[in-house]
Amino acid sequence: MSIKDIIKQDPQGMIAKAYLFAEKAHKGQKRKSGEPYFVHPLATANILLDWKLDNATIVAGLLHDTVEDTGITITDIKKEFGDEIAFLVDGMTKLGTIKYRGVENKAENMRKMILALSQDLRVVFIKLADRLHNMRTLAALPPAKQKRIALETDEIYASLAYRLGMQNVTGELQDLAFLYLNPKEYQWLLSTTKEQYEKRLAYLEKIKPELNALLEKNGIIPIQIDFRAKRYGSLYKKLLRHDMDIGKVYDLVAMRIIVGTISECYAVMGILHEQWPPLPGRIKDYIAMPKPNAYRSLHTTLIGPEEKIIEFQIKTKEMHEENEHGVAAHWIYKQNTSGKKVSGKVAAEDIAWVQQLQSWQEHFSGKQIDPDDFMNAMKIDFFKERIFAITPRGDAIDLPAGATPVDFAYHIHSEIGDACAGAKINGTLVQLDHELQSGDLVEIIMQKGKRPSEAWLQFVKTTVARDHIRASMRAKNKLIASIAPFTHAELKIATEDRVGLIKDVSTTIAQNHMNIMAFHVDDSKGSRFPISKVQIQSIDKSKIEKLILKLRRIKGIKEISYKLI
Ligand code: MN
Repeated sequence: MSIKDIIKQDPQGMIAKAYLFAEKAHKGQKRKSGEPYFVHPLATANILLDWKLDNATIVAGLLHDTVEDTGITITDIKKEFGDEIAFLVDGMTKLGTIKYRGVENKAENMRKMILALSQDLRVVFIKLADRLHNMRTLAALPPAKQKRIALETDEIYASLAYRLGMQNVTGELQDLAFLYLNPKEYQWLLSTTKEQYEKRLAYLEKIKPELNALLEKNGIIPIQIDFRAKRYGSLYKKLLRHDMDIGKVYDLVAMRIIVGTISECYAVMGILHEQWPPLPGRIKDYIAMPKPNAYRSLHTTLIGPEEKIIEFQIKTKEMHEENEHGVAAHWIYKQNTSGKKVSGKVAAEDIAWVQQLQSWQEHFSGKQIDPDDFMNAMKIDFFKERIFAITPRGDAIDLPAGATPVDFAYHIHSEIGDACAGAKINGTLVQLDHELQSGDLVEIIMQKGKRPSEAWLQFVKTTVARDHIRASMRAKNKLIASIAPFTHAELKIATEDRVGLIKDVSTTIAQNHMNIMAFHVDDSKGSRFPISKVQIQSIDKSKIEKLILKLRRIKGIKEISYKLI
């Protein structure tokens, strides 16, 4: 089944309409390979169709580059195709503005940002399909670009696909990236392992009938037995850990047994262990304890016939589907169950990827999503507390929700923050207290010699910005102090005539870390409350006021005022 078949079946449908729309929009544009540009969105849509995603996703796949690369606007898409598709296309357009430069520790940030900007997992699927086709056709690009895209694919997109449990996509993206990142090693691997692969395959083919007979004798009819060859990308990573000794890689080609039920999985493992001795430490029960990306299967490595080592992977058909397609498989599952024909409610708690999204969410923000609401789980709204704004170079800056251009500027560099005089968001001038949104492209306008304003403290959201502004204020106050007409404060204190009162006052001042420059007591007889005048070496109003509060607590103090002198 392809997009063209669908159009033949339903020539008036949304997919047919999107096909014509995108083909027309990209008319005259060419890919680097010389092919018409439309080949790319069409291939992307076909991949999404393969993954059995819903129609809206496939339509958005066809349209995904129209807003970024042609004169079409998001408003046009909304008018022609409605809100849902416009939302998906807009998500793809936003993702198009960010670039990964392989900066250390930025990969995780970038993965989070992709999820945050996408807001809906279907946007992530379109991005993965888009990237998969671009990787399949990467040969047409200049070498420097190939390397950058391959690195981004390996560190960001393959890893995202892995976490979404999409084993096939992960493997293909890693293999393609490996080819461009390490071309020599790739060739070496190809030539040294080809024979090994063939030998392994021939061996497994040979014992397959024996295995079938063994299972049948024990009353198990497997749904399928096949071979899983290890991908070059992951094989190379494994070889690096094993001194490049291919003899130590037992799962170069693994035997895969697919059966009907979970109890049959365990039964098969028991039968195998009885027939051939298992290698210690290599029995893995990913059914009872799935991998963090929800992968489920039983693995065991045995010493098979002719004393050769074989790895077995045993799973049910459902696990197999999930392992290959990951979250996308659940998407199909949900569509089937929410459709009119199938009855019975899906217990979303039982679905591993929902749990996985929850654990991500907890990891990133400590928030809970409602596991009962499956559609909400599809929405990536667990980054509510964070936003990701983008620099003109395409780097993402991770900020708390409500952050402003001033926060953004200080996060890039304190000097940029200090000299910040204005900001443009997506090309438009805004106020410095403007609230940034995820995906905003922010450009800071600097002015030489500009100093931060105290008013910024009213709206900044990050500690980094606040600390820098305060430090700059302190430096300014010091400067003012050094040229100010005032150097001291004089306190006027009305007191009762009490023994020890002068000592109490001077102790309190000393405890507040201030120097007394002069202490004058009015000893003229007759006044009920004599006035003392104390000069202290400070003109910091807030400190003086704090001191006065404390002085007021001393017994016998009636009234205090002060002036700067
Ligand atoms: Mn594209």
